[in-house]
Amino acid sequence: MNTPVHPIEAKCPIRVGEPCNLCESGATGPEDCGLVWLVMNDPELHARLDELRIEHLKSIREERASRG
Ligand code: SF4
Repeated sequence: MNTPVHPIEAKCPIRVGEPCNLCESGATGPEDCGLVWLVMNDPELHARLDELRIEHLKSIREERASRG
């Protein structure tokens, strides 16, 4: 019996915690998204993205800790 295959949902590297919804014109996913390229190649934007990722991880941990 075959196990159903579920496609892996691509996460947006920019919209932290959200799936890629192909919001950028012409993008077929994060791998060819112009906005992702721009942010990853700009040191200041990349640093800010790192901050947002850390904040996101903290909020997840706090939420899990509050659940017990
Ligand atoms: S198209 Fe780019 S910016 Fe838009 S959700 Fe996907 S990866 Fe993120």
